[in-house]
Amino acid sequence: MSQAAQYEPIERRKVYELIAEQLLAQISERRLQPGDVLPPERELTRLYRSGRSSVREALRMLESQGLIESMGNGSFAVAGYANLLHSPLRLLLSLDQATMHDIYELRQILECEAAALAAERHTAEHLALMDAAIEEMAAGLASAGDDRGDRYIEADLRFHVTIADATGNGLLLHTMQALRDIIRRALMSIFRIPGSPEASLEQHRAIRAAIAGRDPERARAQMREHLVRVESDVRGGLAVDGSVRG
Ligand SMILES: [Zn+2]
Repeated sequence: MSQAAQYEPIERRKVYELIAEQLLAQISERRLQPGDVLPPERELTRLYRSGRSSVREALRMLESQGLIESMGNGSFAVAGYANLLHSPLRLLLSLDQATMHDIYELRQILECEAAALAAERHTAEHLALMDAAIEEMAAGLASAGDDRGDRYIEADLRFHVTIADATGNGLLLHTMQALRDIIRRALMSIFRIPGSPEASLEQHRAIRAAIAGRDPERARAQMREHLVRVESDVRGGLAVDGSVRG
């Protein structure tokens, strides 16, 4: 199973991911410079001979990663150098030889200590952002829409990134942002496991309570418990359905 988990069949790659990857390669190779305006959506659709919705999705993904910025009129420009700073790490991770276990081990190393620091350093604003993320996860779970999984997962990721932000350590925040895409893939595989998203929601509430209570020990322990459980669910998910690499 661990062998199988390291290979992702080509046909299961989504078109928008391939487009995003090509644009990202152009940025990282400096063929597209900070401030350069990307070709318009219609032009990209023609160049990639793909559907317009795939181009749109790719642009949305790069925008959410802070690699491109909206110019307002539907066009996008490559983000400034500060935002591109963490792209080498993301590139490394996207070309990854990393196994799912490597990723969860790294998450434990980073996020358990991040939770402890967040308990000491957070502001009211961080708690409000964590609450909003928890509410959105619950709303995603309760909804019947096609996008319920995406809503839930984006909110889940936002919760974890907010904790990194609450440490006040910018490097930690950038590292978590760079890890986000690879974590997203793992989370997609467990959203469909009965009971798993509900369990994560409860654990997020427990982590939030420990941070709000300014209890670093408990925040660290709750985060560890959460990550250990999620990793074991990802493994279970892979055993049931080998199509998603963690
Ligand atoms: Zn989580």
